[in-house]
Amino acid sequence: MNQTSYISKQVAELKPSGIRRFFDLAAQMEDVISLGVGEPDFVTPWNFIEQSVHALEQGYTSYTENAGMLELRKEISAYLNGSFQLTYDPNDQVIVTVGASQAIDLALRTVIDPGDEVIIVEPSFVAYVPTVSLAGGTPVTIQTKAEDDFKLKPEQIEEAITPKTKAIMLCNPNNPTGTFLLQEELEQLATVIEKHDLVVLSDEIYAELTYDDTYTSFASIPNMKERTILISGFSKAFAMTGWRLGYATGPTEIIAAMVKIHQYTMMCAPTMAQHAALEAMKNGKQSVQEMIESYKQRRNFIVSSLNEIGLQCPNPGGAFYAFPSIKATGLTSGEFAEELLQEEQVAVVPGDVFGANGEGYIRCSYATSIKQLDEAMKRIKRFVEKRI
Ligand code: PMP
Repeated sequence: MNQTSYISKQVAELKPSGIRRFFDLAAQMEDVISLGVGEPDFVTPWNFIEQSVHALEQGYTSYTENAGMLELRKEISAYLNGSFQLTYDPNDQVIVTVGASQAIDLALRTVIDPGDEVIIVEPSFVAYVPTVSLAGGTPVTIQTKAEDDFKLKPEQIEEAITPKTKAIMLCNPNNPTGTFLLQEELEQLATVIEKHDLVVLSDEIYAELTYDDTYTSFASIPNMKERTILISGFSKAFAMTGWRLGYATGPTEIIAAMVKIHQYTMMCAPTMAQHAALEAMKNGKQSVQEMIESYKQRRNFIVSSLNEIGLQCPNPGGAFYAFPSIKATGLTSGEFAEELLQEEQVAVVPGDVFGANGEGYIRCSYATSIKQLDEAMKRIKRFVEKRI
């Protein structure tokens, strides 16, 4: 009996995440400093935890409405309005999901018919290509250029369009580059998107984590709201990765279709996590602001350190990743990451796992303490000095 033959072709063809391999290696070693994970080092603010525990004590242990608690949807809607000037009806334009991850999966399954092409902007979050494939779509990748600071240009969308193009996935600020597109840049993209009548999956999970300029949601660009599924969540800015809570907002018809899949495949997002998120929306501003301040300091530190070491690194405008070039070392990104881990016990992610144009770069997450970052930079310096 060959159990492998039981596995569907589509799943058999999926490649395991390139990031995981490094975590597994790092987990077997001692004294490792990880700049690998895309996860805050902060514990979830205490008041969010307390509200969740309180809800459990009061017996809130059942399913909620499929789309999530109305009270939470109202708060999400008010939050998006207050933060990004967006207006969504909490009754039928908001769905609470199991992380932004589930929102991405639901959105793709909702809009894709077999063979539809979905544009993905690389270097990109590692889940986009596989989730498009699993939804039956064909991923079509665009390679942004380092000399453009990895910013997507409207003409690049134009070049990727075919009669089969249905949707485009945008991630702003971007994982892994930290690239942050401003309003004028989004407006230029919107012109091409409208011309070709594309659906936009706008992953805005790092929206709060911008450090120099004002954030503009893609859905707030004129004429974009009716074609945009905004995806976000609590993992990053609210330090809630383990709670598995996210949301999507969009046109009524699309959200209703997403709820239809959700009610059969998930029922609802975890109830206790929804209660924590409710508190995060109502009273989370101060904690989020403190974390943002801290990320900003860390960003400034890591970017200046990397440049001093000789690993050229532009200043990322958002998220919590630095994406320096390692070309000066003559190593591939895979070699760099592997040798750095073995020699100096620092885990980073090789850029090529995020797309072909990520080769020559590494992703360093700075969601870790300045003390750890300082030690990591000393080790990276020692490693690089031997090579350049
Ligand atoms: N989108 C991006 C761009 C991410 O970086 C991540 C997490 N690494 C996610 C979505 C998924 O986040 P969640 O924990 O909410 O599922």
